[in-house]
Amino acid sequence: MELDLRERYARLQADLADAARAAGRSPGEITIVAVTKKQPPEVIAAALAAGITDFGENYLQEARTKFPCHPEPVEGRVRKHFIGHVQTNKAKAIVQTFDVVQSVDRIEAGRALARAARDLGKTLPILIQLNVSPAERFGCPPEQAPALAEALRAEPGLLVAGVMAIGPLTADRDALERSFALAAKTFERVGGTILSIGMSGDWREAVRWGSTMIRVGTALFGQRPAAPLIGAKN
Ligand SMILES: *Cc1c(COP(=O)(O)O)cnc(C)c1O
Repeated sequence: MELDLRERYARLQADLADAARAAGRSPGEITIVAVTKKQPPEVIAAALAAGITDFGENYLQEARTKFPCHPEPVEGRVRKHFIGHVQTNKAKAIVQTFDVVQSVDRIEAGRALARAARDLGKTLPILIQLNVSPAERFGCPPEQAPALAEALRAEPGLLVAGVMAIGPLTADRDALERSFALAAKTFERVGGTILSIGMSGDWREAVRWGSTMIRVGTALFGQRPAAPLIGAKN
């Protein structure tokens, strides 16, 4: 698997560039976040060697044990994105471990991250996670997102940089398009520079709806092991 990671990454970059141009967009405006949840440290090492710069992880404890294995290349060159559920009692560890938090869906989580960022002397870029799919457990209702963004913009320590959403896991392409349309419309109301939509199965549609950041796991690394490496919950 690791042997062809370079190839898969190059292929994804080329396909993304084609899709961007087909949508009348510039390939340079779309970032690939490689989602390495449940993947072992060797996969992260291979990804770093392949030139991947942005990593997404869902589980705090897992990320904390995996990334310190590669302190040297990780510092400065790499951005770690937290894309899992934010528990307020883990805010400080999340801010210590990650450079961006994409999954802020309620005021308490945002405020806890802001406090932690201030304590650590950091400014933390965050995205408002939207719920645009009935099957999703988390995410802010889109109609409440502008108010949440405004409240969190008043918090020193945070930079509200845009929105993130998970499309519905469905074969119904119309439902997918509706979800991304709603995310794009909400992004306009929230403001910022990052619209994080699109995963392995739906990034092409997301690019047509203006995605500036796709989060791709299986298309780069293959199927994930069923269980997280460490700590079932976090
Ligand atoms: C797992 C995950 C991804 C990547 O999913 P793939 O289908 O493997 O590309 C992206 N975003 C979030 C929030 C995830 O949890």
